[in-house]
Amino acid sequence: MAKVIIIGAGGVGTVVAHKCAQHPEVFSEIVIASRTLSKCQALADKIGRAGVSADSVDADSVDELVKLFERHKPDMVINVALPYQDLTIMEACLKCGVNYLDTANYEPRDVAHFEYSWQWAYRERFEQAGLTAILGCGFDPGVSGVFTAYAAKHWFSEMETLDIVDCNAGNHGKAFATNFNPEINIREITQNGRYWNEGEWVVTKPLEFHRTLTYPNIGPRESYLLFHEELESLVQNFPTIRRARFWMTFGQEYLTHLHVIQDIGMARIDEIDYNGTKIVPLQFLKAVLPNPQDLGENYHGETSIGCRISGKGKDGKHLTYYIYNNCSHEEAYRETGMQAVSYTTGVPAMVGAMMFLTGKWVKPGVHNVEEFDPDPFLAEVAANGLPWHEIVGGDLETD
Ligand code: NDP
Repeated sequence: MAKVIIIGAGGVGTVVAHKCAQHPEVFSEIVIASRTLSKCQALADKIGRAGVSADSVDADSVDELVKLFERHKPDMVINVALPYQDLTIMEACLKCGVNYLDTANYEPRDVAHFEYSWQWAYRERFEQAGLTAILGCGFDPGVSGVFTAYAAKHWFSEMETLDIVDCNAGNHGKAFATNFNPEINIREITQNGRYWNEGEWVVTKPLEFHRTLTYPNIGPRESYLLFHEELESLVQNFPTIRRARFWMTFGQEYLTHLHVIQDIGMARIDEIDYNGTKIVPLQFLKAVLPNPQDLGENYHGETSIGCRISGKGKDGKHLTYYIYNNCSHEEAYRETGMQAVSYTTGVPAMVGAMMFLTGKWVKPGVHNVEEFDPDPFLAEVAANGLPWHEIVGGDLETD
């Protein structure tokens, strides 16, 4: 029996709240907090379970967070606000003795740069305080790291190549929309790509490399090489991996819109002056794009995310292994009112919190998900709406 605060009531926060509420034996009290009390209250009312309440907080302010934590005295905070708030929330956790979990690494507002150094710098302070911080516990990052840890534990004596493959074969019927926060999403995919090869990072131009990969139950889709944050921790935690890459599918129409957005300067993240008002073009664009939370109703098709790994099996022989989950947009929407991208992020965030609160993932310090035992986590992920599958000895299509 524990109390959690969920910070963020967007697409992902909505799924986390619904999923936590399904487990009153673990999450006996749930507080949902974002800047907008009315949204949090509406979500708490929709869930309609005893012990679920709403509050408000500006999570850019450590002082406001401390007051929120002092009011509620939670055991853990599930941070599903934006990556900009990670450090303020971690600071407040240290001040109030609260354990921490998030789904995206810290990003400064003024540079689109993703790396764990800012959050790893908190390791010693969390360790000394006896508090656990679990980083990157969505699907990717999140389940992708746990899948890799599961492969290392049960299948490989030495992993050599890792390709994380992320396909969204859904159709929401809009000409252009992003599946999670548009500002964060566009910052991520317009960056240079990067992958790990023989002990160093190789930088590519944005979306420069692509290839056709075949996804289970979906078929072939053009997949583009991106940098994704879990690569950074996975190559450190599994040092035998000599090549690690991340691939994501995009449709041609999406890419055409993205090019236009960039070419006309709407992806800029610096401030410009518009009639005496300072605006950031990408934030303005976010305000006019469809809200990812509203995409669910007419979303058809499914996502497929997994890890394709090669190396030496437990018997020393060459092994290829693919572990993945497919998630239907329609089913996610029926259960939570959100599409599959929010669903596949929210379920693992709930399960990560459950792992900590039931004593299975307790380790003072700041840790990435692959540092914990993958077995109980993956059992709960499957039991909570995201069943996963394995293909052993198949063609990984990654050479
Ligand atoms: P949304 O934009 O839908 O929601 C963001 C929420 O954060 C809103 O409720 C907003 O509250 C709240 N918020 C923003 N700023 C503040 C602040 N200063 N103080 C308090 N609350 C704030 O985003 P998503 O739900 O799509 O994404 C949430 C997170 O999940 C992001 O960090 C994203 O990167 C991550 N993510 C991770 C994935 C993974 O697989 N690991 C995949 C997809 C997303 P309000 O409306 O009141 O301002």
